[in-house]
Order: sequence, then C-alpha cells, then structure tokens
Amino acid sequence: MPAMHDLDALWPRLRAAPFRRKFRLGPNERDYLRRHGRAAVLRHAADFVARRLAPAQPARDGRQTPWRGHPVFIAQHATATCCRGCLETWHGIARGHALSAAEQAHAVAAIARWLAETADASAGTEPEPRQRSLL
Ligand SMILES: [Zn+2]
Repeated sequence: MPAMHDLDALWPRLRAAPFRRKFRLGPNERDYLRRHGRAAVLRHAADFVARRLAPAQPARDGRQTPWRGHPVFIAQHATATCCRGCLETWHGIARGHALSAAEQAHAVAAIARWLAETADASAGTEPEPRQRSLL
C-alpha cells in the first residue's frame, strides 16, 4: 500500500484546485463555528471522519458528506476528505481498508488547517504575502 501523501507537500496543489477552491463557509456555518469554537468543531470533525470515512466500506461512499449545514462538511469538500475516492486520489490513502488512527488524524489535520485559514481570512486581516501565494 503506498504511503499517504504529506499534507504540507499536498496543500498548495489542493488549495489551487478549481473545484476545491470554490468552497466557502456560508453565514450559517460561520455562525456555527463562532458559537461552538474551533476546538469543539474539530471534535466533530474527528467524529465525522471516524463514522463516515474510516470504515473499510463506508455507507453511501461518495455521497456521505452533505454540501452544507456544518463547517466541517464544507472543509471536507475543500480538502478532498469528503469520501474515500477523494482521499485516495488526493491523499494517497487507498480505499478498501479501515482507516488507521494516523490516516484519520491526517484527514482531521487537513480539515483543521482549512478552517484555520478560512477563519483567519475572514477576520478582516490581509493574509501574509507568503500565504497569499498559496491561495
Ligand atoms: Zn469526495
């Protein structure tokens, strides 16, 4: 089984992908993130990954992640951690086996990174020039 890709190496390409880069938090997801805080939302992310992605054969694979309603769902589509096909294509995590703890942590780290960048970008501050070049 090939090793999963390094998130740092993958990130610029992922953020530049036309389909991935169009995802934004809507007002409801933004409000949810503000009310619950990023730590709680990331606990939800770990739970979604464990229940919807980690099984060897996830239920409704390819359609298990809604398009709205929770900030983590948006982050999953934006980071290609929405289904096992995207995880395989983008992250080098093969389909057909139960995700290891390290693979689940990788998916949650991608979600966390996207939410952090999104929250920073919406805080009314200009991103650093170095960050802007990755967007
Ligand atoms: Zn997907």
